[in-house]
Amino acid sequence: MFHYSARTYLLQDRIILVTGAGDGIGRAAALAYAAHGATVILLGRTLEKLEAVYDEIEAAGHPQPAIVPMNLDSATEHDYIELSNKLYDEFGRLDGVLHNASLLGMRTPLENYDPITWDQVMRVNVNAPFLMTQTLLPLMQHSGDASIVFTSSGVGRKGRAYWGAYAVSKFATEGMMEVLADELDNSPNIRVNAINPGATRTNMRAYAYPAEDPETNPTPADIMPLYLYLMGPDSRSVNGKSLDAQGEGSA
Ligand code: NDP
Repeated sequence: MFHYSARTYLLQDRIILVTGAGDGIGRAAALAYAAHGATVILLGRTLEKLEAVYDEIEAAGHPQPAIVPMNLDSATEHDYIELSNKLYDEFGRLDGVLHNASLLGMRTPLENYDPITWDQVMRVNVNAPFLMTQTLLPLMQHSGDASIVFTSSGVGRKGRAYWGAYAVSKFATEGMMEVLADELDNSPNIRVNAINPGATRTNMRAYAYPAEDPETNPTPADIMPLYLYLMGPDSRSVNGKSLDAQGEGSA
């Protein structure tokens, strides 16, 4: 596991947007960021799940979050502009984005891969984070220390049979992170990195590995040290890295 011990108010006064915040790793990240003082923007497609996370954060007495219901499969440039305007009006800036939401798609040889599913996976996993990042960058320029975190995967670094569009989308994610990080290399206030969570006990993992005992994998809460490190000031000089949440790195 990545070793990092986050101080209690690590993210105090930061405004952080998390996509796919209603379930799995995104939910855990939203809770962890709020517990460390951040105002979290909970973005996702299932309102009830976002409301449950909202209630949990409020009941714990953490900063009041905000909910943005959005389906990344159908969101248009207009939706992202509207989101950016809303965030600007309410907060005046954005200090962090965790691009976490993803679609697994089908597990089948490329020869049989359904092109409609291919497009859908690419829209949610690649096009949506691209459009969202492009639209939100000006808002992040208003932050003194902004962090963009993409979510990769082991199959985004080494292709594996039958992982189809998901694997290709994760290669694209690594590429997008590297291109943007290089462009922002001299930026005094915005950095861009990626996290490979590693096998984690979520619905997506259970769907991908139905025969596996879920108890053998860490929970989303267990892998939060790297998520906290990359969002907070201690990683300020880190840019263009793809790090493993369950790796041996430490800070
Ligand atoms: P889950 O499937 O458990 O959660 C994914 C979240 O993304 C859900 O909240 C889901 O919403 C949301 N989401 C999916 N599609 C859309 C959409 N079209 N619009 C808006 N929100 C959407 O996945 P994990 O928590 O396991 O995965 C989180 C990230 O980690 C992903 O990027 C995944 O690729 C990556 N990852 C996970 C690993 C693991 O072992 N779990 C390993 C390697 C990488 P809803 O709840 O409404 O379905």
